[in-house]
Amino acid sequence: MSELMGLKAKLGLDVFKHDKEAHIKIKPGMEKDPRLKRAVWVCPAGLYSENDQGEVELTIDGCLECGTCRIACGIEVLEWNYPNGGCGVQFRFG
Ligand code: SF4
Repeated sequence: MSELMGLKAKLGLDVFKHDKEAHIKIKPGMEKDPRLKRAVWVCPAGLYSENDQGEVELTIDGCLECGTCRIACGIEVLEWNYPNGGCGVQFRFG
């Protein structure tokens, strides 16, 4: 058996504490914007997906707060903030 862990297994070691509101939101009316579709490809946690209507959806649970989606898509389509202190990703090392 391989001792290498897959990405999903590694991500499963982190804990995510929900904030009162999602710290990243798709701006209203931007769900079909082509810039937003970049996030489906670049999010390392795989939190963006495209539904049957061609709208991009975001599931915030498991966000690594890396900022990749903000850079790739831009603040015109995403409202991006860090979570409040004590919320968000809790990395586990070792
Ligand atoms: S900050 Fe990183 S992990 Fe979080 S949704 Fe954006 S790309 Fe994905």
